[in-house]
Amino acid sequence: MTGSASILFAYLASALFFILGLKQMSHPRTAVRGIVIAAIGMLIAIVVTFLDPNVTGYVFIVIGLAVGGAIGAWLALKVEMTDMPQLVGLLNGLGGGASTLVAWADLQLGTGHALDSLIAIGISGLIGTVTFWGSLVAWAKLKELPQFKKPFALPNQPIINAAILLLAIFFIALLTMTHSSLGQTGCYVMIMLAASALGLFLVLPIGGADMPVVISLMNSYSGLAGAATGFVISNNALIIAGSLVGASGVILTQIMCKAMNRSLPNVLFGTMASSGPVADADAIYANVRSTTPDDVAMILDGAQRVVFVPGYGMAVAQAQHAVRDLSKLLESRGCTVEYAIHPVAGRMPGHMNVLLAEADISYEKLKEMDEINPTLDTVDVAIVIGANDVVNPVAKTDPTSPIAGMPIIEVDKCRTVIVIKRSLSPGFAGIPNPLFALPNALMLYADGQQAVLDIAKAVKELD
Ligand code: NDP
Repeated sequence: MTGSASILFAYLASALFFILGLKQMSHPRTAVRGIVIAAIGMLIAIVVTFLDPNVTGYVFIVIGLAVGGAIGAWLALKVEMTDMPQLVGLLNGLGGGASTLVAWADLQLGTGHALDSLIAIGISGLIGTVTFWGSLVAWAKLKELPQFKKPFALPNQPIINAAILLLAIFFIALLTMTHSSLGQTGCYVMIMLAASALGLFLVLPIGGADMPVVISLMNSYSGLAGAATGFVISNNALIIAGSLVGASGVILTQIMCKAMNRSLPNVLFGTMASSGPVADADAIYANVRSTTPDDVAMILDGAQRVVFVPGYGMAVAQAQHAVRDLSKLLESRGCTVEYAIHPVAGRMPGHMNVLLAEADISYEKLKEMDEINPTLDTVDVAIVIGANDVVNPVAKTDPTSPIAGMPIIEVDKCRTVIVIKRSLSPGFAGIPNPLFALPNALMLYADGQQAVLDIAKAVKELD
């Protein structure tokens, strides 16, 4: 086998590892193994790239690997589980930014690029830069920075976005027709400027129930930008890895759109659910009733079927282990316990599944929203722990709300609803939740973990 044939063969092997890894990542039980398999694939790709005779400048590559690797390892060790969604958002953006820079560096190599290479450079610059700025805004929104919390859009935003996209495409076309180095650089800078505006304008108007769709979309874009850059530098591993990320991101985006009752074109062109004035929380919460762990234990004493509805607050409180212990206690008393999982509960796709799997809660007990909703009227007690938007009935009743149209876990149908959270503060969408004031709802104001520990203690004292 020649040198370049062995490199191609090794890239093919690494692609196989990526695909096998992705397959394993699709189930919580095998997800960790999947990540290890995909990482081995990436290691093979990196080592083989080093052996490629076309690769020179090892010193810079090693410095880059050392600095990047050290920062990555430091972040992975330091970042709290609750900050993972922001980190993922940031990494998408850095992937897009890296694609833009690599394509730019390739453009600087000279004016001898073929037409297809120039098109790939332009596409890399466009998608990479959109991903960079879009992901930075998504990061700021996930971080709940006050300046970015409220969706921002200009009048006729979709038309403006379409015009900017056309401008970027015009400069890609001009890039392919320009023969001077200065002219090509000028075109590329214009592509980056237009794409920067597009990235900002696409994500700034988004909030509430549309955020999960945008996160998966940015993930997909970062892959597509990587694949385009793979064409620029003729690297098969990058083309394959980028395509896999792009394709899986598109599939995830579609799943999210379906789960959230959103249309992909609306998300793509920035025509989001309009947000009307926020309702008066004081009026909505006038009849809210609170409860204590002892009272909750008494209610649970007579319950045959209990459903936990976890949300972002369970992740913040790291209450999943306490929830598992309370479930076991209730089951030992003859009660059936299940978990209702909303597709966008938490701050990243699969967030709740990961937390509950970490606490060794059997996957069979996790019921998806569509499966559990029709049966909720036979549930004695729903324990909503740190969830808010995903159980907010306003999604069904107020077409101007930022979560309008989003399917919810319909806990209001259960006989009793216990809501564990620290206060009446809103969730990610920033709107009050009339569920808390329903006659069958009781608020237990406490940190999620502490509340569940106290309920378990009180249940034990019943015996
Ligand atoms: P929400 O953000 O709606 O609500 C979380 C609730 O948890 C808050 O009201 C908060 O109330 C409570 N909380 C916080 N800390 C604690 C604690 N230590 N103990 C107990 N409760 C706590 O979460 P949901 O999961 O219901 O909804 C997810 C939202 O995030 C949706 O709007 C979704 O669109 C959005 N989103 C989801 C993404 C995804 O991919 N899953 C990505 C981006 C956004 P209090 O402060 O009173 O305790």
